[in-house]
Amino acid sequence: MNRYIDLNHISDGKLYRADDLVKAGCGDCLGCSKCCESMADTIILDPMDLYLLTANLHTSAASLMHRQIDLGVVDGIVLPHIKMADDTGRCPFLTEAGRCSIHNFRPGFCRLFPLGRYYEDRSFRYFLQVKECKRQNRSKVKVRRWIDMPDFNRYEQFIADWHYFLKDLQIPLAKKGEKWAKDTSILILNEFIFKPYNTEEDFYPQFYERLKSSSITLQADSTL
Ligand code: SF4
Ligand code: SF4
Repeated sequence: MNRYIDLNHISDGKLYRADDLVKAGCGDCLGCSKCCESMADTIILDPMDLYLLTANLHTSAASLMHRQIDLGVVDGIVLPHIKMADDTGRCPFLTEAGRCSIHNFRPGFCRLFPLGRYYEDRSFRYFLQVKECKRQNRSKVKVRRWIDMPDFNRYEQFIADWHYFLKDLQIPLAKKGEKWAKDTSILILNEFIFKPYNTEEDFYPQFYERLKSSSITLQADSTL
C-alpha cells in the first residue's frame, strides 16, 4: 500500500532492519485487543496470508469470503482484507476473551504491528509507530523475533517482491483506464488469492511461479 506520510510525525524517527532491537514488545497484549477492533478494511492480506489461512483452517479463500475476509480497492487494485464484524467492528478471529484465535498463523499485518514498513530501492526497512499502541514501557525485541516468521530472509524478499509487483502497476493503471484496472484486479485475485495453493508444499516456489506468469501476461498487455 502506498502512503505518503511524514515518518517524524508517527515514528521515533529511526529505521530498523531485521536484526535491530526495537521497542515493540507489548507484553503479549494482555488485557488489550485495541488493534483487533475497529480496523475497518485496513488489515490487507497478501498471498502468504491466504496460504497460511487456507492451510491452517483447512478451507479455501472463497469459503472465507464475506464472513472472515472481503475485497476492497487499494491504490487502484482489488485486494482482500480481514472483514471486521458489521455490528461490533471486531475481527472475526478475535475471541470473546480478547485473544487472537489464529495467533500462530495470523496475517503479516498483525505480526508487524506496531511496526510499519518504509519501502525504498526495491527493498524496505521498518519503523516503529509511536502513536498506535498505547502500552507503556514496551520492551525491546529484535525485529525478526517480533514478526516471528520462519525462513525470515525469504519472507522479507517475498514482501518486497509483492509490494513492488503491485507498485509497478501504478503507471499503467494511471494510463490505461478502468477496464485495464478491472482486468488486472481479476487476474491478480484469481492468480494469487483464489487459486488454491498446495499447502503441503513450500509457498515460495508457488508464489514466484505465479508472479512470473502474471508479470508476463501483464507485460504483454501494458507498457510496464
Ligand atoms: S494496542 Fe498494543 S497492546 Fe493493544 S492489542 Fe494492539 S499491540 Fe497489543
Ligand atoms: S487476525 Fe488476530 S491479531 Fe489480527 S486483527 Fe484478527 S484477532 Fe487481531
